[in-house]
Amino acid sequence: MEDKLIEETVIALLRRAVATLPGDVLAALEASLLIERNPTAKRELSRILENVREARACMLPMCQDTGLPVFFARMGFTFPGFEEAVARGVRRATEDIPLRKNVVHPLTRENTGDNTGKGMPYICYSYEPSDYIELIVMPKGGGSENMSALAMLNPSSGIGGIKRFVLDTVVNAGGRPCPPIILGVGIGGTADECMALAKKALLRPVGSHSPDSSIARLEMEMLHAINATGIGPMGLGGDTTALAVHVEYACCHTASLPVAVNFQCYAARRARARIYRDGSVEIGGE
Ligand code: SF4
Repeated sequence: MEDKLIEETVIALLRRAVATLPGDVLAALEASLLIERNPTAKRELSRILENVREARACMLPMCQDTGLPVFFARMGFTFPGFEEAVARGVRRATEDIPLRKNVVHPLTRENTGDNTGKGMPYICYSYEPSDYIELIVMPKGGGSENMSALAMLNPSSGIGGIKRFVLDTVVNAGGRPCPPIILGVGIGGTADECMALAKKALLRPVGSHSPDSSIARLEMEMLHAINATGIGPMGLGGDTTALAVHVEYACCHTASLPVAVNFQCYAARRARARIYRDGSVEIGGE
C-alpha cells in the first residue's frame, strides 16, 4: 500500500464530512422537527435542515467553520509514514475543497496556513490486528469545542454531582455550541483519559445507548434534563437542546471522580474509511 492512498483517502473523507451529515444525525434532526412545539425552534430546525440538504446537494461545507482536523485511527497493521500522509491529505484538502484555515500557534496566534502544525492534525490511535486501517475524521468546530469542561469531583458527589456538573456546563454554554448539540460525557479514568472518553463518545451513532444499563439510564436522564432547560435550537428557546447524550466510562482511582464534557454542534460531521492492505478503500459516513 502506498502513502498516496492514505493522502487521497483523507481528502475524500474531509470532502464528504464537511458537506454531508451522517444519516443518524440527519434522522435525529428530522425527528426533532416533528416533535418540537416551539414555533421559533421549528423555524430554526427547518433552516438547519435546509442548510444541511443544500450543502449535500452542492457538495459544499455546511458551515463556514470547517473545524480542526481530528482523526481516529484504528491500526490493523503498522504503516510507516502514516502520520505524514494524513497531514499531506489535510494540506491538500485545505486548498482543494477548500477548508477554512483554522490552525494557529496557541501563543503567537500565527496561522500555519494549511490546517497542519505541531500536534495537528490530531490523531487518536488504537490498535487491533486486521487487514485494514480504519480512519474516521471528525472535523471539530471551535464554537462547540470551546465549551468543553472537566471536573475532578469528590467521589462523594456521586451521580447527583455528575448530573449537576453536566447540566451546569450545558446551561453556561447556552447557544454558543450551536444547538441542538450531541453531548459526549466521559466519567472516570485519569483527567486526560476522561476527556478523551468524552470526545470518543461523540463517535457513537446518535441515540445509541451504553451497553451498561446504569450508564444508559444516566444518558437518558441527562438528555431529558438538558432538553427541559429550554435553551433550544441555536439558543433561541425550545424543546430541542440536545439530540443525544453519550457517556463512556473507565474505572478510576478510589479518591477520584473525573467527569468531562465535550460538545458537538448540530453540524456533527464525521466520515469513516477502511483502507485495506491490498490497496482497496471503503468510504462510509457512519
Ligand atoms: S459550533 Fe458547529 S455549527 Fe457552530 S459555527 Fe462552529 S462548526 Fe459551525
